[in-house]
Amino acid sequence: MFDYLIVGAGFAGSVLAERLANGSGKKVLVCDKRPHIAGNAYDFYNDEGILIHKYGPHIFHTNSRDVFDYLGRFTEWREYQHRVLASVDGMLVPMPINLDTINALYGLNLTSFEVEDFFASVAEKTDRIRTSEDVVVSKVGRELYEKFFKNYTRKQWDLDPSELDASVTARVPTRTNRDDRYFTDSYQAMPKHGFTRMFEKMLDHPNIKIMLNCDYREIANDIPYREMIYSGPVDSFFNYRYGKLPYRSLEFKHETHDTEKFQTAPVVNYPNEQAYTRVTEFKYLTGQEHKKTSIVYEYPQAEGDPYYPIPRPENAEIYNKYKALAESRPDVHFVGRLATYKYYNMDQIVAQALTVYGKIAGMKRKEAAVVSEKVSANGKAKLPVSEKVQVVGTTVQ
Ligand code: FAD
Ligand code: UDP
Repeated sequence: MFDYLIVGAGFAGSVLAERLANGSGKKVLVCDKRPHIAGNAYDFYNDEGILIHKYGPHIFHTNSRDVFDYLGRFTEWREYQHRVLASVDGMLVPMPINLDTINALYGLNLTSFEVEDFFASVAEKTDRIRTSEDVVVSKVGRELYEKFFKNYTRKQWDLDPSELDASVTARVPTRTNRDDRYFTDSYQAMPKHGFTRMFEKMLDHPNIKIMLNCDYREIANDIPYREMIYSGPVDSFFNYRYGKLPYRSLEFKHETHDTEKFQTAPVVNYPNEQAYTRVTEFKYLTGQEHKKTSIVYEYPQAEGDPYYPIPRPENAEIYNKYKALAESRPDVHFVGRLATYKYYNMDQIVAQALTVYGKIAGMKRKEAAVVSEKVSANGKAKLPVSEKVQVVGTTVQ
């Protein structure tokens, strides 16, 4: 008899498996319908021996020391600051929009103070920031909004920014200085040997059994367990009782080129002319040295694996109905990006999973991330950091 059947071996499922097994001595069965662990963070060495991310670029960043320290028990880190260029008006300019973006785009030589005045002169003030259009237009005006955000967003979501919650484009800040990092979180690093290796260490415990290529529906009636942790799409769990929750998908086109370097930045965004949104060159992210290089193009799609919940009021309304159903099932814990319909980054999912574990184990949240010395992953246990585990806020800046 298993104590828990865990559906999904991504961050949500794997953190809970590790915590329940290591922290509470529970017996867990993790099943995933894919042929691998690590969910969307799965990475692997391709035929050329280059480490790539199967489901698009995954860059770890967090402001939560607890989350960073917790994962640090299963991996060494390689410090990494992510940078993105946007292809606009035939130029490659820094994204997020910063002082250099404006100077390059308009052939100017403004200072930080002057660019503040420039933004103030073009910004369209609104009383209430409600949509993804409002966020950008109220900061940098309509022209920059149209060059950098409008078409990218339409392509990515098949919606106009005015139809999406403010939180979507608010993920990308605007700067008046020359800081060209994509993220400014306190902890920014990549697992030194990749995400999949980190997951292998998390799940390496005698109480954890893993079944891959396995939809939970194939086994749920035959394998005895007490409770379920579910990290798949919430609408599917309830057989679409209130209709389909929209999720956005992507098609990934992977290529390897016979050259050491393909582009001048880890990611180049293509807001306007192309059918794809961005191109990622993995060697920047992983630090791997190789005489060839692998890249991926992302083509947004309506159909396919559900990757992104779509934050807008009508979807929140549908989700709230499913949430009420989920709350009526004390035997099932819904956790993760698809099961809670939240556009969360990896660190936010880890924090969410640790919070759920804290509740299950009847622990204060600050104790939930503690990996005890005798059971830590590599035998090199460090004492846990006893700070609060908190659900990290969105990275809106
Ligand atoms: P998932 O990783 O989706 O895991 C859920 C698992 O459940 C899947 O493996 C699925 O196969 C399995 N499953 C579903 N239904 C069933 C079923 N019926 N039976 C069995 N198994 C099932 N976050 C960052 O922090 N930084 C980034 O740079 C970043 N980049 C991203 C880029 C892309 C293109 C995408 C799509 C996401 C990105 N994210 C990033 C977000 C990150 O992928 C998620 O926050 C994280 O992977 C969510 O983990 P999860 O466990 O909730 O979900
Ligand atoms: N966005 C944009 N232009 C860009 C980058 C981002 O319009 O060059 C908008 C777009 O709507 C995107 C959102 O901001 O979906 C969030 O961007 P982020 O890079 O965080 O997306 P993710 O990495 O989650 O796909």
